[in-house]
Amino acid sequence: MPDVLDMILHWVFPTDCAVCKRPAVDRRLPFFCRDCWETIRPIDGPVCPRCGRPFDSPLALTSSPGHLCGPCRKKPPAFDRALSPYRYEGVLEKAIHLFKYRRRDALATPLADLMLVWVDKLPSVSLIMPVPLHPSRLRGREFNQALLLADRLADRLGLPLSFEQLVRVRATRPQTELDRKERARNVRRAFAVPNAAGLAGQRVLLVDDVLTTGATVNECAKVLRRAEVESVTVLTLARRV
Ligand SMILES: [Zn+2]
Ligand SMILES: [Zn+2]
Repeated sequence: MPDVLDMILHWVFPTDCAVCKRPAVDRRLPFFCRDCWETIRPIDGPVCPRCGRPFDSPLALTSSPGHLCGPCRKKPPAFDRALSPYRYEGVLEKAIHLFKYRRRDALATPLADLMLVWVDKLPSVSLIMPVPLHPSRLRGREFNQALLLADRLADRLGLPLSFEQLVRVRATRPQTELDRKERARNVRRAFAVPNAAGLAGQRVLLVDDVLTTGATVNECAKVLRRAEVESVTVLTLARRV
């Protein structure tokens, strides 16, 4: 039930739900109505305990809970664990698109809150870091959506945020233009830790919006490892499955 302030705000700044076009009247949830937003549901069924990839079989982990997916067994990633609670589809895909490419910054808090749905699955972490953008991309797109999400998560989890210790030193082509092999090559040596002070022994939560092949977060994890962090857990909002 919308409260009076919501109704006044909607009267002053009318917005319609980006999906169903009915009035969106909840100020904590801009651009979407509550009904459409609640269709966003986390992935159910077993996922690889290392990289978070959903298994095809609902029974994949019943006999051996630590069973890893094929790619993780073949070549274990540099991060300890990756969690992506949602598939990149439907209402969430629309929301990420608005957030990322149309600068709807007000979506940062509701999106970060969605990321916390699996907070009980998160291992212990001590420091939150976003996947950095190269300064040239920052000028074009003007903001790092991963930083906004990381900032809200740091706030919710009561943990420190570090956004200057991991940097992108090489401008890379957008990963969306590339296939799996090219993605890995594209981000190789793209990241650096210019100043490792205080990083040794940290349990880092590395934050990004969407995970595709995991090549980007894997490269970040490699350089963080060299800076002697104790562990790297990756949390992304969604994954392209
Ligand atoms: Zn709607
Ligand atoms: Zn895996």
